[in-house]
Amino acid sequence: MKVLVPVKRVIDYNVKVRVKPDQTGVDLANVKMSMNPFDEISVEEAVRMKEAGTATEVVIVSIGPKQAQETIRTALAMGGDRGILINTDETVEPLAVAKILAKVIADESPDLVLLGKQAIDDDSNQTGQMLAALLDWPQGTFAYKIEKDGDALTVTREVDGGLQTVKLATPAIVTVDLRLNEPRYASLPNIMKAKKKPIDEKAPGDYGVDISPRLSVVKVTEPPVREAGEKVEDVATLVSKLKSAGAI
Ligand code: AMP
Repeated sequence: MKVLVPVKRVIDYNVKVRVKPDQTGVDLANVKMSMNPFDEISVEEAVRMKEAGTATEVVIVSIGPKQAQETIRTALAMGGDRGILINTDETVEPLAVAKILAKVIADESPDLVLLGKQAIDDDSNQTGQMLAALLDWPQGTFAYKIEKDGDALTVTREVDGGLQTVKLATPAIVTVDLRLNEPRYASLPNIMKAKKKPIDEKAPGDYGVDISPRLSVVKVTEPPVREAGEKVEDVATLVSKLKSAGAI
């Protein structure tokens, strides 16, 4: 089974984001960038499939600036086989990402595409679903467990109130949730080996996809500042404060 894993370069999840003074977006100047955490989980899953003998090849693809090469290298150091960078400095919305991925898929013919359930920068949670619709492929979203079942895949999904198990014919799209696995850290020897793995470079234009935005961002603002808490002497004071605040 050939597995394609799209990975996005995003602002590192440990960074406290700062909104630009003109409220047009988030300040990315001199900010640490990393692989989208959900994509680390999908890379890990693909690599585990390879180690278990269910996956034959793991291809990593990223759409983004030149530096997204580093993100691809990280995935290659975790165990991916080769990479494809679709180089652009523009912001690419989920629909355009899905359209480009559909073209990559036409070239690569993977049996499984493993995406993150969402990118932590735009929180769209759209790309996998749009890709499944564009290709008319079955999809299993929010995967908690993925098992190969003959030519099909059994995907256990995290849903409200429990777990739902679905069976998908391949080729299929699966988006991964947080509890699927714990991604590994790449070892130094594997980081060195990854430097020699091939990364093809393309541009959105090579696939004939128009990436011009369809949405306009009205404004980006900081979340409201949380009010400071207060320590009380005893339970009686707590209860009376809660009562006077109308909380109980
Ligand atoms: P989103 O729909 O933006 O929340 O992203 C969901 C998933 O789509 C991510 O976890 C990635 O697997 C994939 N994805 C989104 N944007 C990109 C990108 N620019 N390059 C590669 N994969 C992407």
